[in-house]
Amino acid sequence: MTSKACRDDISKFAMSMSFTHLGTGSRGNSTLIECGDYKVLVDQGFSGRQLERRLARMEIKPSEINAILLTHHHGDHGGGAAIATKRWDIPIICNYKTATSLNLEIEKTRIFENLEVIKIAEDFALLPVPVPHSGADNVAFVASHNGERGAVVTDLGSWTNELANHLHGCQHISIEANYDHNKLWNGPYPSSLKERISSRGGHLSNDQTGQFLANVVTENTRSIVLTHLSEQNNAPHIAESSVLYHLDDLFEGDIRISLQDGPDFTHHVGQSEAELNSIEGIYLRG
Ligand SMILES: [Zn+2]
Ligand SMILES: [Zn+2]
Repeated sequence: MTSKACRDDISKFAMSMSFTHLGTGSRGNSTLIECGDYKVLVDQGFSGRQLERRLARMEIKPSEINAILLTHHHGDHGGGAAIATKRWDIPIICNYKTATSLNLEIEKTRIFENLEVIKIAEDFALLPVPVPHSGADNVAFVASHNGERGAVVTDLGSWTNELANHLHGCQHISIEANYDHNKLWNGPYPSSLKERISSRGGHLSNDQTGQFLANVVTENTRSIVLTHLSEQNNAPHIAESSVLYHLDDLFEGDIRISLQDGPDFTHHVGQSEAELNSIEGIYLRG
């Protein structure tokens, strides 16, 4: 149950930027970023009904969403974008390859170039940073507000120095930890699929995510969410312990896992230390 009191608590900090995963995984992804009165989704891989139901838990109507930004064209990220536009007239913002791969109407879609700043409001912008992912022109998004940044990174087989530079020192980082290496290689998938998942164009393993995070977290990094865990080849406790092993004492903030059924929690970015301590990781479920 979504607590009304929790939403009221959140609204007290209306000028912070917040990140809430409506759900992540191979059966659908969508992340809500709120900043003041503005609300955008990164990805919409759910049916219209699922999106409506997940937002309702936060007392938000789909018509309140200002835009849907897409990372890439795979169905679990962009498969529900067109229905959301048709049903609630929500604009879609994505790059050209994603738009054409999803057969979106180009004239109704705002097309960005990778690394072009997407300004949503006066002090709320998102930067699309390219990441390697097979057959897709995939991007991570780094959202910024009031001098602080939060990132949503998913579906990448490896990282680039460019991505590391943009994530360095972000206050919040949501990033995929898709598979445990041993579970994948000892599991039932055919070897061609195992190779594809673990290739440069596939997904990050828990260890790769941990190694990458060790390169980008700073003392400014307050929260990490691990996303898009494979239900077959991973488990929350394995993902968390693998990543924390690599982070060692580099990170002392809040680390959580987003699974397929959300929303479960919200992270705020751009607050003072005292405010963050009082609201960090508000749980949406009563
Ligand atoms: Zn995906
Ligand atoms: Zn993908």
